[in-house]
Amino acid sequence: MEIKTNKFKNFFKRYGALALVGVFTVAIALTVALTVGNSTSQVSTNSLSFQIPMNNAEVIKDYSDTKLQYNDVLNRWEIHLGIDFTSSTDTSVMSVLDGTVTSVSNNSLEGYIVEIAHDDGFVSIYSSLSENVLVNEGDEVRRGDKIGDASNSAGREFDDETALHFVLLKDGVEVDPNNYLDLGNK
Ligand SMILES: [Zn+2]
Repeated sequence: MEIKTNKFKNFFKRYGALALVGVFTVAIALTVALTVGNSTSQVSTNSLSFQIPMNNAEVIKDYSDTKLQYNDVLNRWEIHLGIDFTSSTDTSVMSVLDGTVTSVSNNSLEGYIVEIAHDDGFVSIYSSLSENVLVNEGDEVRRGDKIGDASNSAGREFDDETALHFVLLKDGVEVDPNNYLDLGNK
């Protein structure tokens, strides 16, 4: 009888301890999940406040993925998977979000081009920049940092206009920047 009682106590102690460990594990996992979930949504809310890439920006050619627009340099109709901006006051071009410069290049059709990778699968591409590019591949930039100046270097699109051809990718696909940039509030 004495032995049986001890066995029962031992049995209870062992499984009671296991049950406690189980409850604590679940509680910790829930706490971690809730904390991570909250901080993630806060971070993405903050980082997804896009800045307009030029001061006093004026849209000279809008985004269109179906409607053809006339390219008067190449004399042809084409879709336009970006927005062309100009500004009468300032040629500065700014990063639309915090990010990392993934490429700086140039060619005669698009001029100097800077690509910046951001959170949530966004990549912004700035072309028709002058050779005075202020960032290098690998640089970290903050939203609003000046990366260069608009120019007429994109030979496929601009003759003597100083302009920025701006493209926004989401998960590798061009998206309409109007859905992300608050162009009514520039
Ligand atoms: Zn363009």
